[in-house]
Amino acid sequence: MNNKLYGNLIFELSQPGRKGYSLPKNRYGEGYRVPQELRRQEDALLPECDELTVVRHYTNLSNNNFGVDTGFYPLGSCTMKYNPKINEEMAALPQFQNLHPLQPAETTVGAQAVCTLLCRALCQLTGLHAFTLKPFAGAHGELTGLMIIKAYHESRNDMQRTKVIVPDSAHGTNPASAAVCGLDIVEVKSTPTGLVDLDDLKRLVAEQGPSIAAMMMTNPNTLGLFERQIPEIEQLIHECGGLMYYDGANLNPMLGAARPGDMGFDVMHINLHKTFSTPHGGGGPGAGPVGVREGLEQFFPKVSPYHGNFAVAIRAYAYILSLGREHIKEVGPLATLNANYIKESLKDVYELPIDGLCKHEFVFDGLKDKSTGVTTMDVAKRLLDYGYHAPTIYFPLLFHESLMIEPTENESKETLDAFISVMRRIAEEAKSQPDEVKSAPHLTPIGRVDDVLAAKHPIVTFKQLIHDAD
Ligand SMILES: *Cc1c(COP(=O)(O)O)cnc(C)c1O
Repeated sequence: MNNKLYGNLIFELSQPGRKGYSLPKNRYGEGYRVPQELRRQEDALLPECDELTVVRHYTNLSNNNFGVDTGFYPLGSCTMKYNPKINEEMAALPQFQNLHPLQPAETTVGAQAVCTLLCRALCQLTGLHAFTLKPFAGAHGELTGLMIIKAYHESRNDMQRTKVIVPDSAHGTNPASAAVCGLDIVEVKSTPTGLVDLDDLKRLVAEQGPSIAAMMMTNPNTLGLFERQIPEIEQLIHECGGLMYYDGANLNPMLGAARPGDMGFDVMHINLHKTFSTPHGGGGPGAGPVGVREGLEQFFPKVSPYHGNFAVAIRAYAYILSLGREHIKEVGPLATLNANYIKESLKDVYELPIDGLCKHEFVFDGLKDKSTGVTTMDVAKRLLDYGYHAPTIYFPLLFHESLMIEPTENESKETLDAFISVMRRIAEEAKSQPDEVKSAPHLTPIGRVDDVLAAKHPIVTFKQLIHDAD
């Protein structure tokens, strides 16, 4: 920001004839020249810059990134947490990094051991029988899990089971995965207290029991609430012949507290990139291993070549080992403590639609004082001015002004206190200087962008250069 070259594209810094490199002469003579038919007719349109300009340009750009290594990242439902550097070192070991999936099995015993031991650890942490590491993401894991469920019903010649029950608070990938798997979605309502409405579920089961393939649940659900009626729900679904699917994308609140396998779930996925610490964002990288109870492992489909996203598996295994059996038990309780600490410290100024104990995350419905006209979007934008990444906003869809906060288990009390004081300050500003908040951010390189236009009509070419070249 304080660099006057900031904001330029590398092409705009270009000076005709300026070079940051020199290539050695072709020492091998004419015989080694690139054949004429393979050569360019004209020079490529590349920026011409000196080396320091290039280095500074990209370093300044990188300084505009926000990440878990630069600041607090309270993004709900997407668990962005501490990514220990030791994981990166393990994943970068040449013995792992230089493997080829087609090399002889006897030369990859160490890598196979990582996969086997990680699966074993996941079984122990979830109470399930077997895991496959093949899926590349949470949504891919959901699809894999539903394919397993479909194959199970088909193996029993139970062909009419085509429906999947999904709570209205579910992550959008749940209904999307069911649809991609060729299954129909049946929505079950939430009660005013944010849990699955058991009466609505009973009605659905009574009406559609023989056609129900599965019920998908997220627990703690996307409101951060523990679904206390799982024993009844599990019984209802199993009695009608369906299976129970557990969306374990954000498993951190459960580690050391409870296991999906013990709750009666048959199939689940885990987002290694969330719960087990692979840095992710902008679409990857990820891994969504799927676990099943005994008797379902023969239905594991082939959803990716080879062994899935192996580098993510290494990081997850390194994370599990570095926490160890003792400390991994503290993950869930600490994630829960941190979320409740923020919630209780802010609920007098932010609207808490569902009071009570939450797990790893919770949802505010905007500011408590609605008279100021300051929206959740404004609060999120103003947070950027104070150096914080915005929480998840306008999801879940159950409230108009959703502001979803997850601190994760790794943050210190000082970090949480600093965030709380900024959130309180913004609530104060909403009253004393609402226009300042409504026009935020003021300190970022660019202000508010048109998100829809930017996503639907991205401009990814440098017009001026192309124009000049015409
Ligand atoms: C993130 C998330 C998903 C999807 O995971 P991806 O890896 O982004 O595909 C599914 N369910 C829940 C609850 C999530 O938070």
